[in-house]
Amino acid sequence: EGPVIIVGAGHGGYQVAASLRQAGFSERICLINDEAHLPYQRPPLSKAYIKGSAGPESLTFRPEKFYQDQKIELIAGRAVSIDRAARKVLLASGETLAYGHLVLATGARNRLLDLPNANLPDVKYLRILDESEALRQIMPSKTRAVIIGAGFIGLEFASTARIKGLEVDVLELAPRVMARAVTAEVSEYFQARHREAGIRIHLGVQATSIEAENGKVTGVSLSDGRHLPADLVVVGVGVLPNIELAAEAGLPVAAGIIVDEYLSTADPNISAIGDCALFASPRFGGSLRLESVQNATDHARCLAARLTGDKKPYDGHPWFWSDQGDDKLQIAGLTAGYDRVVLRGDPAKKAFSAFCYHRDRLLGIESINRAGDHMFGRRLQAMDRSITPEQAADESFDLKSALA
Ligand code: FAD
Repeated sequence: EGPVIIVGAGHGGYQVAASLRQAGFSERICLINDEAHLPYQRPPLSKAYIKGSAGPESLTFRPEKFYQDQKIELIAGRAVSIDRAARKVLLASGETLAYGHLVLATGARNRLLDLPNANLPDVKYLRILDESEALRQIMPSKTRAVIIGAGFIGLEFASTARIKGLEVDVLELAPRVMARAVTAEVSEYFQARHREAGIRIHLGVQATSIEAENGKVTGVSLSDGRHLPADLVVVGVGVLPNIELAAEAGLPVAAGIIVDEYLSTADPNISAIGDCALFASPRFGGSLRLESVQNATDHARCLAARLTGDKKPYDGHPWFWSDQGDDKLQIAGLTAGYDRVVLRGDPAKKAFSAFCYHRDRLLGIESINRAGDHMFGRRLQAMDRSITPEQAADESFDLKSALA
């Protein structure tokens, strides 16, 4: 009962507000937004947005009128502390907001590079719209980019920078790209494709320093002694969940704000969702913190349902995508922990899927330019079914028959 105050107006925060109204919630809803834009989609920041010329309004979920019509109060500002006893949130402006339920949808922030010169204007990050915009604006005046980190964001940006005509070097400490997220088969495919596009990928190396002259970046030195010239450095070395607000209010945190399978913190009046939440997962066992639109949006829907009387544990099926150059990667399920990979389709034809198994249990599917396999995987998982590795590898096996 009482107002719902949501801290953070990203994918999760926006969706809780929208879903609450959809479910008929009639009390006050405030969405605290510390970015100077209407709530917007983040994935295009490293994809279509940075490649194209459309303005920020092309990214917004809904126009301003939606918030007025739905009586969702967008409050510009930053939440700085929580008074749990009084059930109030304090904003940086000095304003306080009383809550019946508080939703922490604070997301994550860039992990910063701890190197000299890392704060120069030619060193960029890519998390928020303002950063994507800044990068888009300086790119035409740049000729050589060094990208630190071969995760999704680093590689998505690398493809775009190359298409825009820049020389591109990508540094990665791990022995393969996207190592934490995809199978070796998929890493190798992307390494080959990016190299074909003229991107130089350096594996097993670290940046040890950024060189500059008169405040302008001139290059990056590597742990193997090499030196790469550069006039632009883009850092994509992961994120840190924004847990401080919760921690300072005495809520348990670890690698995220700790919540149970209902997404509730230790305080029944406070929940946490999306990138910032370390949630108990009966389906996967133990706790998970995921960084995806699916996770933030489905968390939001689950929480909105609970706050309007439909209490169920969160049991979403993870899925994800990444666009790199002409290739579309789609992941259904969580593939970590696999001990067997079966390919369906042909990497040489630029269309295949890696079916990942633990023993004989299908954990997930990584598809490249095989949207049908991806959708199949999502439907199969929603039905809690599996197919055998032999069936997966056999192109004559009709996937649809497994869904019947
Ligand atoms: P966010 O969307 O990060 O929103 C959190 C918001 O809270 C931010 O606006 C933040 O500024 C604000 N905030 C934090 N603290 C406070 C405070 N104290 N007061 C007020 N506001 C606060 N996922 C996919 O599934 N597919 C993709 O292709 C994909 N591509 C991506 C590309 C990029 C460049 C990035 C950065 C992410 C991408 N992601 C992708 C991940 C996805 O965007 C995130 O998982 C998702 O945005 C998480 O939603 P969230 O609501 O938890 O956090």
